[in-house]
Amino acid sequence: MWKTMVNDRMRAQKGERTKEVKEVMRACYHSTRNASLRCTAKQAILNGLASDGGLYVFEHLKAQKLDLIELMEMDYCQTAQWVLSALLPDYDGCEIHDCVKRAYGDQFTNAAITPLVKSGKDRILELFHGPTGAFKDIALQLLPQLMSTALAAQKDQNIMILTATSGDTGKAALCGFQDVDHIAITVFYPDQGVSAIQRLQMVTQSGRNLAVSGIHGNFDDAQSEVKKLFHDAALKQELMSQGITLSSANSINIGRLIPQIVYYLDAYRQMVAQGEITLGEKIDFCVPTGNFGNVLAGYYAKQMGLPIRRLIVACNANHVLHDFISTGVYDRNRPFHKTISPSMDILISSNLERLLYDVSGGDCGRVQHWMHDLQVKGRFCVDQQTLQVIQETFVSAFISDRSCASIMKAKYEQDAYVMDPHTACGYGAMKQLADDAYPCVLLATASPYKFCHSVYAALFGDLAVDEFTLTERLERQTQTQAPQSLKTLKECALLHEDVIERQDMRAYVKTQARRLFQ
Ligand SMILES: *Cc1c(COP(=O)(O)O)cnc(C)c1O
Repeated sequence: MWKTMVNDRMRAQKGERTKEVKEVMRACYHSTRNASLRCTAKQAILNGLASDGGLYVFEHLKAQKLDLIELMEMDYCQTAQWVLSALLPDYDGCEIHDCVKRAYGDQFTNAAITPLVKSGKDRILELFHGPTGAFKDIALQLLPQLMSTALAAQKDQNIMILTATSGDTGKAALCGFQDVDHIAITVFYPDQGVSAIQRLQMVTQSGRNLAVSGIHGNFDDAQSEVKKLFHDAALKQELMSQGITLSSANSINIGRLIPQIVYYLDAYRQMVAQGEITLGEKIDFCVPTGNFGNVLAGYYAKQMGLPIRRLIVACNANHVLHDFISTGVYDRNRPFHKTISPSMDILISSNLERLLYDVSGGDCGRVQHWMHDLQVKGRFCVDQQTLQVIQETFVSAFISDRSCASIMKAKYEQDAYVMDPHTACGYGAMKQLADDAYPCVLLATASPYKFCHSVYAALFGDLAVDEFTLTERLERQTQTQAPQSLKTLKECALLHEDVIERQDMRAYVKTQARRLFQ
């Protein structure tokens, strides 16, 4: 009798302890600036940004080893299932399965989700077959699912997503979060900094839980102000009293970044399946880069064992990242250029912080120091050794608007392939830096029809007609098809015509929070 009691107690204690240990194990995300600021994957996704201003990183990334032979047997959704299960340990298999299934259904117009196409000698991974025509869809169809799932465990909590967009994130986020329960979204875009189609996509978005406003300023202004709002204690307090917390759909949210790892793996699988490489052979990827989210996902794929040699960071005239990768000095004190690749018009690349954390060997103190310098002086400088580690994987180049246009034209004339200006920056960088010994995959980040003015002008010369006439002309002359979702914009009502000053964003958020959660 006594013995059984003791045994029972021991078993109970052991059970409890295992549960506790599991919880600790699961709190496997922490801030880039403070390793003791820990939380679970679900919390990291709900929070968006760590409370000290750092970004969440996963502690066991390198321990998740990819099995290439298994990869070859997986389709896109199965690969997504594997990546998410590895990196989001507190989501169970069923939850992940449901999220993935909902995210990658027939809202994608290509069954492969991210098809690898061969055009002439080039291999191009097309990431723009989602509902809004940019690669952001791949993460932003999934993030709302992950967020809702995490939210389900938290009774009576509402979330307001604040998003600054350089053009593509805004629409993709609006589309992904449309009418999701307990979540509302406010998007700020630079009024003069997005293409006509990008603007139309956002201002015509319907849904009962969303607000959209232009701001007078550029993307960096919008992003800095949004980051400030995340740390505005009084605002947080006030929203909290209404049961609302703030979160982010920008790639500072780890839930935005992780889904992007998947297509690197799937691209590699397609390269092998198409006979371009043999299993295990190393390849390069070339990535049109702005906020450093996309290319960082490639770096994470490499950390998990995908045979990647180099990652080519392609920039436009705002080549702050190119200068950093070449010299180790990051300096945002420079003129901001408006280019024909607006989604890359960025001088503060937020996700670089995650790379710095990693290449410094997880030294939060040093990351904190660099980020402090960036905030105060607008510049920081890494040591030679850190730079060397970065340069082992990353190389970079930048492309001016003029070369970008001639690249689009040359590629079209050579292979009848129509690229958008961002992809064309990537193409130019790839041609400068790729070497024949290693196959390179170019990531095509947007549909050319999102930027039909610049594309048409590059291919056939300037034409002063409206976006829709131009779209039809471009279709006819290139024998390609615009995404249906862009063509139907013509019939959509303009629903959100606010344009505000940067200093009014705070008040705007308060008003919208009250309106959207009433
Ligand atoms: C967002 C975007 C980029 C830049 O991606 P990051 O993850 O911010 O580096 C490049 N091209 C297009 C078309 C985009 O929308």
